[in-house]
Order: sequence, then structure tokens, then C-alpha cells
Amino acid sequence: MAEHDVQDEEDCEELRLLKETQICKDCKNIVFGKGNEKADILFVGEAPGRNEDEQGLPFVGAAGKNLDKLLEKVGLSLEDIYVTNILKCRPPMNRDPLPEEVKMHTPYLVKQIEDMKPKVVCSLGNHATKFFLARGELDKINGQPGITSVHGKVREMEFQGMKIKLIPLFHPAAIIYNQHLLGAWEQDMEIVKREVNEVKEQKTLF
Ligand code: URA
Repeated sequence: MAEHDVQDEEDCEELRLLKETQICKDCKNIVFGKGNEKADILFVGEAPGRNEDEQGLPFVGAAGKNLDKLLEKVGLSLEDIYVTNILKCRPPMNRDPLPEEVKMHTPYLVKQIEDMKPKVVCSLGNHATKFFLARGELDKINGQPGITSVHGKVREMEFQGMKIKLIPLFHPAAIIYNQHLLGAWEQDMEIVKREVNEVKEQKTLF
């Protein structure tokens, strides 16, 4: 059973918009997210795959198992974070998101961010990273640098009227196939932990 059943979700304008896309008409489940909606850290991946579509939850397949393992290594769990994707429905054959799909699905992501108000956003891989670097402005996505040059670099930014700290990370699926990225991921996660601890300390001060 999906953590968020479609019927449970308020049928808001943003949800109606993403439901108009063909990938939504063809999918088994709309995959909203999992984890702690009150957490200070949000992880954003690309799109659900086959397992995610079956179960209605993000990151439950091979990439998800790797994400769990990688988070555990640095002492983070689903209690500490919320996980979602740029697209809420599975593209056929796991192809890259189309610009039209990004346009129709990301207003819902922005609404999730407005509701959750995370202090730190970790973008997983190229698609999510470019979306955030472009501040959600779709015509600016193509001009953004790739994950290899920006991973682990913390950026304080205004995103759609909100202040966030963006930390781009390699996608956990990429790490499965390129084990040499593991060291970089571990270093980047130390940065994530440092930022999260800073947020926690500020909370106890005020
Ligand atoms: N890859 C993603 O980007 N998201 C998922 O939910 C699963 C795999």
C-alpha cells in the first residue's frame, strides 16, 4: 500500500496538472514521496522506476536499496529525511524526463517544498540538480552544469521565493555502476551532515 494514496491527496491544481500527462495515465501509482514530512532535509531524485511504480513509493528498487545503505553509513534514516522525485510517475522504459513532463509535474514538487519548508535540499543526479540550479525555471535547465562539477558544493539560494541550501549529490544508481564515485559520495555526505547539524544547532538556540 502506498504511503500516500492518491485518494488521500487533496485534489489540488498541481495534482490535476500532473494527472494530465500521458505517463500519469499509464502508470500504476503516482509516487509522491516517503520519509518524514517534517524533516529539515529533502532528497529529490529523477523519476520512479518499475518497482517504485508497483509499490507507490520512491527509491525502493536497486537505487533505493543503495540509497538506504549509503544513508545508514552516515547515520541518517527516513526519520531524518523526506525523499521524492522530479516526476511523480514512471516514464516508459525509464527514459529521461521530457521537458513537458518536467513542466507539468514540478508545480507539485514546488508545493511539496512549500509545505515541508526543508532547510537543506539534496538533489540526486543531473536532472534534479539542473532543475534546482535553474531555480525551477525550465528554459534555464539546459544551460546548467552537470553533477560531476557541482556535487558536494553547498549553495544558499532563493528557490521559488524560498531560501534553501542546495547540496547536489551523485545519484545512488550511478554509484552502483561506478563504484569509484563512492568516496566522493561519502565526502559529500559529511557535508550534508555538517549542514544538518548546523540547522539543528540553530533550532536549539532560538
Ligand atoms: N531513481 C530515482 O531517481 N527515483 C526513484 O524513485 C527510483 C530510482
